[in-house]
Amino acid sequence: MKSQQGYYGQYGGSYIPEILYTSQQQILNAFEEAKNDPTFIQELHKQWQQFSGRPTPLTHCENLSNHFGGAKIYLKREDLNHSGAHKMNNVIGQGLLVKRMGKSRVIAETGAGQHGIATALVAARLGLECTIYMGKKDIARQYPNVFWMKQLGATVVSVNTGSQTLKDALDEALRDWSSSHDTSHYLIGTACGCAPFPEMVSYFQSVIGKEVREQSQIQFNALPNKLYACVGGGSNAIGLFENFIADKQIEMIGVEAAGKGAKIGEHSIRLSHGLGSKGIAQGFSSIFLQNESGQLQDTHSIAAGLDYVGVSPIIAHLAETQRIRMTYATDEEVLQACSLLLTKEGIIPALESSHALAAAFREAKQLSNKENIVINLSGRGDKDIFNVAKAFQDEEFVPFIQEYVKDFYQDKTTQQT
Ligand SMILES: *Cc1c(COP(=O)(O)O)cnc(C)c1O
Repeated sequence: MKSQQGYYGQYGGSYIPEILYTSQQQILNAFEEAKNDPTFIQELHKQWQQFSGRPTPLTHCENLSNHFGGAKIYLKREDLNHSGAHKMNNVIGQGLLVKRMGKSRVIAETGAGQHGIATALVAARLGLECTIYMGKKDIARQYPNVFWMKQLGATVVSVNTGSQTLKDALDEALRDWSSSHDTSHYLIGTACGCAPFPEMVSYFQSVIGKEVREQSQIQFNALPNKLYACVGGGSNAIGLFENFIADKQIEMIGVEAAGKGAKIGEHSIRLSHGLGSKGIAQGFSSIFLQNESGQLQDTHSIAAGLDYVGVSPIIAHLAETQRIRMTYATDEEVLQACSLLLTKEGIIPALESSHALAAAFREAKQLSNKENIVINLSGRGDKDIFNVAKAFQDEEFVPFIQEYVKDFYQDKTTQQT
């Protein structure tokens, strides 16, 4: 989305230490040039196709549509990207920009680990050094991703401050960048941060909506009636929505994490209930969950990728001007939606994406079968195996892990003797 000097209504902007100003201008210029350079665009599309498998399909879910007896349900399959989520679209784009700027190292923060792993993969492919900042709690929740980041050659730094989640990792990554910006690029994973990151990330993610536009014309000879996406930082949502903003008849719904309750620290609802308020943090102005003195509050979601205290200034603006409708889904609704997609369609959704599913399923029943709705399946659920097993109380999972741990140490003792 285009902005006036990085502003979307009253949100956005660039609140960074002066020391970063030159690097920020460099990114701004490189991005503007690259967008208008056919060679860059060609390379971007080549990498999207050859490395990430784009275009991703638009899948008609006949069983689910019949189950609800309402709207025809389609899924945009971002789960089929290399590394299993939409994150790859943006990381490939910024990775190519890093090469263009002649820098040799990337820094990134990650919550669910999906952005971290996408960054580590692209860094390996493009020959860049890579440091990933991750909250200690998120490392525990998403260890399989951490394991692969390390094997890919990335340095993973555990952040033990604050709530030990995404917002703390973000602060640490910014600190690193302040002292390393000559050689390093801060590869932000969502449509947040100082200008031009919100615009740049949504530019790279807008390939999602562009494909949906073409695919819906081909597959059901019309544009979709409604679009659903979960909202963490907001990048998969804006990626789906951007190309449809001018089509006023299309309703766009953003879904936040209602977690396990309305108390502070139990949810990540910033917009849908007016729980968040305007503030400036982490380099930009937007809606944040904060107390009266502007201290950022703790958040929770069963989906690590939605467990974030701020939101994209673009999403904040689109919500304020009522171009998008914000709603939410609880952890419990999310697990039900996840289970339905598994059993009715044979697809394993990420817990983040299951928020979009939950809201869409709630509403699909009320719609006519002449309406087509598209849900952004932002990622696959393989990474969530531990959380889902715990939530579904699969009793056999515990002995399996215990056996695994026993084996691990036994091998170690054998090697030592
Ligand atoms: C990171 C992530 C999200 C949330 O990030 P957005 O920037 O809001 O898209 C959602 N789904 C998946 C699978 C993710 O990995």
